[in-house]
Amino acid sequence: MDTTSHTDQTTSATAEQAVRGSSSRSPATLPTGSAEGGAVSTATTTGEGHQLHIDSVVLSARGLRCRYGRFEAVRGIDLEVRRGELFALLGTNGAGKTTTLETLEGQRSADDGDVEVLGLDPRADRRALAARIGVMFQASGLPGDLTPGEVLDVWTRLVPGAPRHLDAAAVLDRVDLGHRAEVRVRQLSGGERRRLELALALVNDPELIFLDEPTTAMDPEARQRTWRILEDLRAEGATIVLTTHYLEEAEALADRLAIMHGGHLATTGTLAEMVASQHATITARLPDDTPRLPSPLEANAAQDASGRLIVSTPRLQDDLSELLSWADTHGVHLEGLQAADASLAQVFHRIADSSPANEDVTITSQEGAR
Ligand code: ATP
Repeated sequence: MDTTSHTDQTTSATAEQAVRGSSSRSPATLPTGSAEGGAVSTATTTGEGHQLHIDSVVLSARGLRCRYGRFEAVRGIDLEVRRGELFALLGTNGAGKTTTLETLEGQRSADDGDVEVLGLDPRADRRALAARIGVMFQASGLPGDLTPGEVLDVWTRLVPGAPRHLDAAAVLDRVDLGHRAEVRVRQLSGGERRRLELALALVNDPELIFLDEPTTAMDPEARQRTWRILEDLRAEGATIVLTTHYLEEAEALADRLAIMHGGHLATTGTLAEMVASQHATITARLPDDTPRLPSPLEANAAQDASGRLIVSTPRLQDDLSELLSWADTHGVHLEGLQAADASLAQVFHRIADSSPANEDVTITSQEGAR
């Protein structure tokens, strides 16, 4: 676990506050370039062209390891999230996403590695951290007999940093639940409960928000509405870290993302960086006894189990033109022709289909779940 001295933490927190300025929720607007004292300032453009002014690393993990008894769920990951970005943590089932999130939130200790969140040690400084972060758990077990307004009222008393008199109506409006303030929680739909859980994460106006699978159980319409809420929060300056199994959610929202598999971080970067490493794909079903494909195409071509042609190419337009011209010349009908750029799904499936880097889990001390 992090053995950073108190002095170092104080220095780090002070630098953090200096960068943060007087309003914790103001979008960062510092000039780009490298800053002194470890607060890195850069600018980047997301896939959707939205320009981020990233002035500091708000969260970092180095060599993070987490164990449940003899089982190592998180196996030495390095992670960095910068102020103002929406970071999506994807991964296969059991990859270690929730365990990682819980460690960053200060709910559990790391077994090894260094973790710093908002300049604090999340475990040692968890009360101070709790006042500045919002957490939406994967399942929180809301009390069915209370109304959303009452749940917010109770929750506000428990969360450090929450105002003494919360404007519950405003918080419920923010998550599109204003019209459901007076019904019992048990009467809410699954999607409405998730939005109430999101509201709970917002009561202290957090600068960093952790959301564990925020749109699970939502229909496509409710999911889109939740995406808009998250985009609004980011536009107001909040940093958001979320886990999701919906690739389209990560594609729609994330400034940067990471994919975990078997306790390892398999890849991290922007969507554009991730798909750039993949080839585009052309698929079509060819009739029997077709002539040979031109040699450059043939070199990249394969057939799937159903006999469908699959061409994997770094030059989609050139190879597609070549295929169409060949089909024209030979009178070949390309049934079900499809051409697609590389996608996040491709990247994800390549990782999911691979064996995670196997490491022997040798535990000599600290055995047993905490
Ligand atoms: P999912 O996407 O399925 O929610 P995840 O990526 O969030 O999974 P974790 O919940 O972090 O994964 O779990 C990582 C591994 O640790 C899994 O193999 C899980 O079974 C195991 N695990 C999680 N919690 C415990 C626990 N309390 N005791 C023992 N093993 C646990």
